[in-house]
Amino acid sequence: ARLQLDVVTIFPEYLSPLRESLLGRAIADGLIDLSVHDLRAYAPDRHRTVDDTPYGGGAGMVMKADVWGRALDDVVRPGPGTTLVVPTPAGRPFNQSVAAELATRRQIVFACGRYEGIDQRVADHAATTVEVLELSIGDYVLAGGEAAVLVMVEAIARLIPGVLGNPLSAVTDSFGDASVGLLEYPSYTRPLSYQGLEVPPVLLSGHHAAIARWRRDESLRRTARRRPDLIAALDPATLDRADSSI
Ligand code: SAM
Repeated sequence: ARLQLDVVTIFPEYLSPLRESLLGRAIADGLIDLSVHDLRAYAPDRHRTVDDTPYGGGAGMVMKADVWGRALDDVVRPGPGTTLVVPTPAGRPFNQSVAAELATRRQIVFACGRYEGIDQRVADHAATTVEVLELSIGDYVLAGGEAAVLVMVEAIARLIPGVLGNPLSAVTDSFGDASVGLLEYPSYTRPLSYQGLEVPPVLLSGHHAAIARWRRDESLRRTARRRPDLIAALDPATLDRADSSI
């Protein structure tokens, strides 16, 4: 397979949706290999303990470095093709360019935290042998890393050659290469009239240049209204003369 995905978690069942849909097909086709590992299997004591109270005090529990270390020693293939991803709200933002970068790796190992997270020395020690990315999927706090892994894996997998039926759709998506930092324009299909709402006439015109212009205008308008931060970040070189009219 092009890409080996390993997920380490105390809730292996949580990852079963990864075997559905697009990704399930990619696994069946041999493009992606997926293994889910139960962290508790690496806990040495009878009670399979994975957490302990935090040094320095405070609320909650912290996942133990030694248990994680044993799991990662077993799962991580050291070398330049491997990345360890540690989901955390305290991480750098996961976005489309991070997804594209990760789609070029040979192995990605995801370490799902629970409670207050994982002893920092796990990531720090792993970074001596592989690339480690501490990544956040957004400015909100989940109960565990599993849902973040579902999000990241879905975004990464559809960028792997052969996974999407039509590779062009990844290019025109919001944040795709062709959209250079704009949100995607709205889409329509049959019927022509729905609840009194008509499809924009230009889309029926057969006039390709006019359609492209309309889509670009809609992208710009939408982005300006919903994501002014993206407009502010636009490279002026990507704007054309006609853009200034909207
Ligand atoms: N004490 C941590 C903090 O404030 O940074 C929050 C821990 S959170 C309750 C438990 C786990 O959920 C984290 O270890 C991480 O795996 C996951 N998680 C929560 N929010 C996340 C986010 N926005 N992005 C990625 N992972 C997240």
